[in-house]
Amino acid sequence: MNEILSFLREAADLTRRIQNDFITPATWEKKDKSPVTVGDLAVQTLVAARLEALYPDVPLIAEESADLLLTDEGKRFLEIILEYVAKYIPDVTAEKVVKWISRGKHDDSLRDAPRFWTLDPIDGTKGFLRKEQYATALALIENGQVTLGFLTTPNLTWLPETKEFTTDQAVGSLVCAKRGDGTRVVPLDRGDDALEPIHVSAHADPAEASVLRSVEAGHTNLSQMDVLCQKIGVTRNVGMDSQAKYAMLAAGKSDLLFRLISAKMPDYKEKIWDQAAGSIILEEAGGRVTDLDGKPLNFTQGYTLKQNRGICASNGLLHDRAVQAIEEIGA
Ligand code: AMP
Ligand code: MG
Repeated sequence: MNEILSFLREAADLTRRIQNDFITPATWEKKDKSPVTVGDLAVQTLVAARLEALYPDVPLIAEESADLLLTDEGKRFLEIILEYVAKYIPDVTAEKVVKWISRGKHDDSLRDAPRFWTLDPIDGTKGFLRKEQYATALALIENGQVTLGFLTTPNLTWLPETKEFTTDQAVGSLVCAKRGDGTRVVPLDRGDDALEPIHVSAHADPAEASVLRSVEAGHTNLSQMDVLCQKIGVTRNVGMDSQAKYAMLAAGKSDLLFRLISAKMPDYKEKIWDQAAGSIILEEAGGRVTDLDGKPLNFTQGYTLKQNRGICASNGLLHDRAVQAIEEIGA
């Protein structure tokens, strides 16, 4: 566990260096039109390398592929990645970068593996590009159940003195959860011995509650979100990128999180690396995570949550009311 926290601290340092060095980090558009940056690929390189050394027999399902690095244009990216990763792995080579990124399978071939890791090297790439919220998300799935989850949020900082998060970009946080063992948080400038438990809010009255949702209109349905909040009786509905939203709920700083289906992509299926770490972090802090129909998330279907539709997550107390409201508005 300590080794994992240690390389995740390196990953946070890596993304911060890239964010500080570039006005806009070298960016590429993937086939699905979403962006990928040198940051995404450098973090996947580093984390895949560390996981291979620590857990050589446990496969990895990760978001990024090395394909674009093998094109002429990609060589420029590869050079930048090498430079950044060398701080942590001094003998890194171009071949090793491609090998480590490619350790992260991005298909359904691992669906029957008894245990595997899943990684989103930079969740909320658009938030990363806007210099707002993003997270590195890592989780272990064993026999279909998420058993370990980690989030680093370099632009969301836990303040142990006041038990608050700030969107201060100076420090950042590490949040982790082990099944049956609770959820803990530590600011990135303190050691693992300062990890402290966090819990969801006790808000049972929607009037006291707030909702977190995606900033990007393409990742949810913003007009339906307003209708849903009105139906539940929640007045605050705030945008935040990435699984940092789950950390906020786990610490009781918000109460509900919805991923409604974007009208632009009615058949979109959630990716496991976007939900695995966040869901265990919220559940172990006392919260609940289901899909929009109230069904448990099914992590046995490969790299997507094929059997689920969107996400409804809560402090537990407001969950049934939220699922009912979703049904009533036909979301
Ligand atoms: P957020 O930070 O809440 O905007 O969520 C970021 C994640 O949304 C990305 O990691 C994408 O994998 C995912 N995503 C991309 N397209 C969609 C979509 N149409 N609906 C829901 N999520 C999406
Ligand atoms: Mg993501």
